[in-house]
Amino acid sequence: MVINPVISIPASAVNLPGQEPDWKRQLREVVTDPEELLELLQLSADSVPIDKPEHFRLRVPRAYVDKMQPGDGHDPLLLQVLPQQLENSTDGLLDPVADLAAMSASGLLHKYHGRVLLITTGACAVHCRYCFRQHFPYGDACSSSARLDEAIRHIQQDASIHEVILSGGDPLVLDDERLAVIIKRLATIDHIDSLRIHTRLPVVLPARITGSLCRVLTATRLRMTMVIHANHANEIRQAESEVLQRLQAAGITLLNQSVLLKQVNDDADTLIDLSRRLHACHVLPYYLHLLDPVQGAMHFDVGEREACEILNRMRARLPGYLVPKLVREVPNSSSKTTISAI
Ligand SMILES: *Cc1c(COP(=O)(O)O)cnc(C)c1O
Ligand code: SF4
Repeated sequence: MVINPVISIPASAVNLPGQEPDWKRQLREVVTDPEELLELLQLSADSVPIDKPEHFRLRVPRAYVDKMQPGDGHDPLLLQVLPQQLENSTDGLLDPVADLAAMSASGLLHKYHGRVLLITTGACAVHCRYCFRQHFPYGDACSSSARLDEAIRHIQQDASIHEVILSGGDPLVLDDERLAVIIKRLATIDHIDSLRIHTRLPVVLPARITGSLCRVLTATRLRMTMVIHANHANEIRQAESEVLQRLQAAGITLLNQSVLLKQVNDDADTLIDLSRRLHACHVLPYYLHLLDPVQGAMHFDVGEREACEILNRMRARLPGYLVPKLVREVPNSSSKTTISAI
């Protein structure tokens, strides 16, 4: 695929006053019915054993469905979003990384020195079947003003914190006005110098990356990093490549984290393609996470030994900066835990 070096502004980024932005329309029009998804992909309902779990339903933007291969029940993008009967297993935990115990009422997670994670919303554009937050009782108030006040107070009182990570859910489902308020309030705290946004939207709903959003993200003294979340090279096509270039051109540092997922990306060739594709879009690989052992997702689990073998094969073929760190989240540790060769 040829990457266009010119940063063009797609029509979707230009909105008349009062008109609903294209990304909000796309967010409303996500696919939520597994049968419709199969139909869009020309798959018969009996070829794939689907399920309809109430606690964590199918949710996928049509722009993401467009990147799946019709007729392929094993498409690596489809497997990430389609609820399957395999999920009914009771193996695994409801809160595998002990976030509930660590989260304060204001939605702040302060587990590691120097940085805090702020849950800005429980909503996401996509429901990833392997998500460790799929059983998380967010309530609907994590983005309320009172909670933000409380979070700001906590950060103000602790001068050891230098970086705030906006997470969720997905912080970019918030609209520009809300994000601008959060960023402005954080920038008033002297000891905060960095803001990081963990988001899957550049990959699953690229229309969200508008010119207006880029302005909100860069109209601040805070050093801005965005950690996107791509698991497979097929997720990054022309539209995604263009918005990543736009973010990079705005001066935002771009990193990627992936989850190692059985049948989706559990081989060296797939992950090498992903690293190279990311690099072509100015994104460097950051973490490759082993699956958090969450109930309903254990069929995605790849063992440590196999993961190390995959990493070794990547190391043998890529420059060091294109090899992600293989990590696992261990509850009550002072950082992510690096997995080294065994
Ligand atoms: C993963 C995580 C971070 C970020 O860790 P880095 O190693 O800095 O990327 C921060 N806070 C919490 C609670 C996390 O789970
Ligand atoms: S976007 Fe992130 S938080 Fe939302 S379902 Fe996917 S992995 Fe979970």
